Amino acid sequence: MAELTPMMRQYFEIKNQYKDYILFYRLGDFYEMFFEDAKLASKELELTLTGRDCGQEERAPMCGVPYHSAEAYIARLVRKGYKVAICEQMEDPKSAKGLVKREIVRMITPGTVIEASMLDESRNNFLACIYQTAEDAGLCFADISTGEVFATALAGREMQRELLSELGRFVPREALVGGAAAANEEMLSFLRERLACNIEPMPEDAFEPSAARSRIEERFGTEDFDAAGLAGQPVLVQSLGGLLAYLTETQKSSLANLNTLEVYRQSQYMELDLTARRNLELCETMRTKEKRGTLLWVLDRTRTAMGARLLRQWVEKPLLNPIYIKKRQDAIGALLSDIVARSALTDELKKIFDMERLIGRIVYGTANCRDLRALFCTMERLPAVRQAAGLFGGALLRELTGRIDLLQDVRMLIDAALVEEPPVSVREGGFIRPGYSAQVDELRELSSGGKGKIAEIEQRERERTGIKGLKIGYNRVFGYYIEVSRANSDLVPEDYIRKQTLANCERYITEELKKYENTVLGAQDKLTALEYELFCELREKTAEQVHRVQRTAQALSNLDVLCALAEVAQDYHYVCPDVDFSGRVDIRDGRHPVVERMLEGNLFIPNDTVLDGADNRVAIITGPNMAGKSTYMRQVALIAILAQMGSYVPAASAHIGVVDRVFTRVGASDDLASGQSTFMVEMTEVADILKNATKNSLLILDEIGRGTSTYDGMSIARAVVEYAADKKKIGARTLFATHYHELTALEELVDGVKNYNIAVKKRGDDITFLRKIVRGGADDSYGIEVAKLAGVPGAVIRRAKRILEDLERDAPKIEVRALTDDTDEAPQVTMTDLGGNQVADRLRALNVDTMTPIEAMNALYELKKLLS
Ligand code: ATP
Repeated sequence: MAELTPMMRQYFEIKNQYKDYILFYRLGDFYEMFFEDAKLASKELELTLTGRDCGQEERAPMCGVPYHSAEAYIARLVRKGYKVAICEQMEDPKSAKGLVKREIVRMITPGTVIEASMLDESRNNFLACIYQTAEDAGLCFADISTGEVFATALAGREMQRELLSELGRFVPREALVGGAAAANEEMLSFLRERLACNIEPMPEDAFEPSAARSRIEERFGTEDFDAAGLAGQPVLVQSLGGLLAYLTETQKSSLANLNTLEVYRQSQYMELDLTARRNLELCETMRTKEKRGTLLWVLDRTRTAMGARLLRQWVEKPLLNPIYIKKRQDAIGALLSDIVARSALTDELKKIFDMERLIGRIVYGTANCRDLRALFCTMERLPAVRQAAGLFGGALLRELTGRIDLLQDVRMLIDAALVEEPPVSVREGGFIRPGYSAQVDELRELSSGGKGKIAEIEQRERERTGIKGLKIGYNRVFGYYIEVSRANSDLVPEDYIRKQTLANCERYITEELKKYENTVLGAQDKLTALEYELFCELREKTAEQVHRVQRTAQALSNLDVLCALAEVAQDYHYVCPDVDFSGRVDIRDGRHPVVERMLEGNLFIPNDTVLDGADNRVAIITGPNMAGKSTYMRQVALIAILAQMGSYVPAASAHIGVVDRVFTRVGASDDLASGQSTFMVEMTEVADILKNATKNSLLILDEIGRGTSTYDGMSIARAVVEYAADKKKIGARTLFATHYHELTALEELVDGVKNYNIAVKKRGDDITFLRKIVRGGADDSYGIEVAKLAGVPGAVIRRAKRILEDLERDAPKIEVRALTDDTDEAPQVTMTDLGGNQVADRLRALNVDTMTPIEAMNALYELKKLLS
C-alpha cells in the first residue's frame, strides 16, 4: 500500500485522538474535513464533496468551509448534537520549515458553546455533570458563556426523583455521566428523550477524589471550597471535578470566568418536576413549545439579555423562605412607589449589552474589537444606572446598587486603545487608536508615506514617458507594477522590466518601485501583527477584571428583573401577597395571569380560593367542559409560584402559605412518545404524586380516572381523593376537577373535602358559562349543550338527547357511600344493568369537541346497538 502524504499522516495522528469529534483541519484560508467527517459534514451542511490526493490510490473525500465563516457551519453541526474539534496552524506557513505545525485549540460541544451566534441570549446554556454512587449523587451545572456554576448533592429515598427534577429544571444541552449515573437507564432516557440532551460518558479517573479537589481549589480557591461546605460532600466534589476536567480538556484555557459557584440545597427552592413545569406552561407552551402564552411571556419586561436569563431562573426556581421572598417584594414595592425614577432606570438598562457573555468571550480569547467596544459602551452607562438605582430605598435595591462597580479604569483602558468603530477582523489592523502606541503610529506613517511616494512616482513617470494612461496598480502576485496600454508600449523607457502581458496592456516593474513596495508592505505586515498583539494584550488585561465585571453584571440583571416584575405588577394590577408558613392559601379575586392576557376584549372573571391544612384541604370541582376548571386550578398554582418568586400576584388580595412542591396531573401528557398508553401515563403520574407529595404540597388533579371505564375510573378517583385528604397519609392542599358528579358525596364522608362548581346558566338548550366558582356540586354535565355550542349538527344533538333521556330512565343510580374499611374493601357502587352501563361508559368516553358529524353518527349507531 502506498504511503500517506506527510500532511495526511499529521491529520490522522490528530484525528485518532479525537475520534468522536468532527475535525476542522486548518489549511490556509479554509477548514477542511476528510474521509468520514467530510462525508457527514457534506451531508449535514450541504457542502460539495471533493477529493484530495493523500498518497493512496484513491483520493481522500474532502470538503471545507472558509475560516472566516466557519462559525455558522460549526453552529449548525453543534445544534444537531455533533461535537467539533478545531485544529489550527500553530506557525506561519510562510516561515515554517517543512510541514506546518498544527494543534487542537478548542473543542466545541453542545454544552460548551460561547459564540453569541450559537446561543439564545434569553436563556442559559448548561453543561451538566452527574456522578452517582449507590447511596448518593453529586450534580452540577455550568454555563461557561456566563460563568455560572450550580451544584447540589442528593441522597436518600428521594434521590432519583430529585435528580430528574433538577435535570428538568436546568434542561442541560449536554450531560457528563460517571459512576452509577452511567448505568442509570431511567435518567439517561429522561435526558435523551425528554430533554433532547447529549450524553457524554466520562472515564472514572476524571472523578478521582483528590484530583477533583485540587481542580476545584485551583478554580474557585480553597476558601470557597471550605465555605461551600464541599469538604463533607465527596460526591459533589467528584461531580464538580469531573465537570472541570472536561472543560479544561475541551476549552484548553483557564476557565477564568467560572467564578460564581453556588452550592444549593433542595430545601431552598420549590420543587417542580418536568411534568408540572410543562403542564403549567411556565416557560414554553405544551403544544407549540413557544414562549408566547406562558408565564414567562407575561412577566418578561426585562431590558437586558442578562435580565431575561435571570427571570427565567426565577420562574424555574421559586423560593421557599419567606424572608428572601419578602426582600424581593420590598424591592418591587419600592420600584412601584416612584414611576418616574423607575422609568429612568429602565431607560438606562435598555442600553446595557450582555456583559456576562462579553466578558466570557474576552476571557476565552474569542472576543474581537467590537466586543470590547460593546463592553466599553455598557460601562459608559454604569454611572447613570447607578445613579438611577440609588434613588430607591429598600435593602435589596441598596445592596444591588452598591454592587455596581463603575469599572472606570477598564473603560479608560479600552477607550484609549481602540478606535470608536473598529472593523470585525482583528487580523487586518486598523483598530488601534492613534496616539496609543508610538510604534503603531510610526509604522502607519511609514506605510502611508510609502503609498504617497508611489503616487508621486506614478505622476512623475507619466510626465517622463508622455504616456497619459500610465498607472500604478497592485496585486498579490506581482506587488506594485506599472501598467501601460499596448498602443503605448513603444514609449516605454529602457529601465522598465516587463513582468506580464495581458490582452490590452503590458505590466512592468522598476527598481525604484520595488524599493518602496518593500517599505510599504513591510510596514503594513509589521503594523497588522503589532496591532493584533496590542489587542491581545488589551483583551488579557480586561479579562483580569472578570470578577468585577461579573459582579456588576449580576447586580444589573437583578435590577432588571425586579423592574420587570414591578412593571407587570403595575400594568396588570397585581397585589403583594402575604407569604408565610401558615399552610393557608387564601386568594380573593384571583386571576389566571396568562389567560387574562390572552382574552382580548373579553373580561376575565376573577375567583376566590381557600385551601388550608384543616377543613379546606381538598376542593372537588365539578362543572361542564369549557366551564373553566383547568384554568381555575392552574391559576391557583401559578399564583403560588409567582408569590414564591417574590413577585406580586393577579388578585385583589392573596395569602400564600409556602408550597414546597407543586404536582400536576392534567389532560394529555407530552410523554406519549415513550410508548405507554394514555391511561398508563396517567396512572404513573398519579403514583408519583401520591408517593411524593407532602402536607405542604399543592396538588392539581384534573379528571383522574377518565382514561378507563366508569367504575374503575371513579373508584380510583375516589381513592385518590381520600388518600390526598387524609392527614395521616398526605393531607395536601388539593384541587380535584372531575366529571364524576357522584364524588361530590365525599364532602359528607371525608374530612377536609369541600365541593365547588363552576356556575353555568341554562336557558332551554343553551348554556352560558358564568366562569364563577361557587360552593356545592354541579347538577349536570351539560355535555350535550356544550356539544351544541361546538357546532355538532342539530340532528345528532336531538338524537343524543333522546338517548340520554332513555339512559337516565333505565340506568342505575351510582351511589357513593361510606365504606367501613377504606383500605381493603373496594368502593361500593351498585350496578344492575350492564348494558346501560356500557352505553353510559361509551357516551362518557366520547370526545364530542373533536368529532366530525360522520363520527358522531357512527357513535350513535353503535350506542343504539349496545342498548338493543
Ligand atoms: P375541559 O373540561 O373541557 O378541559 P375546562 O372546564 O377545564 O374544560 P378551561 O379549559 O379551563 O375549561 O376553560 C375554557 C376556556 O374558558 C378558556 O380557554 C378561557 O378562554 C375561558 N375561561 C376560563 N376561565 C375563565 C374566567 N375565569 N374568565 C373568563 N374566561 C375564562
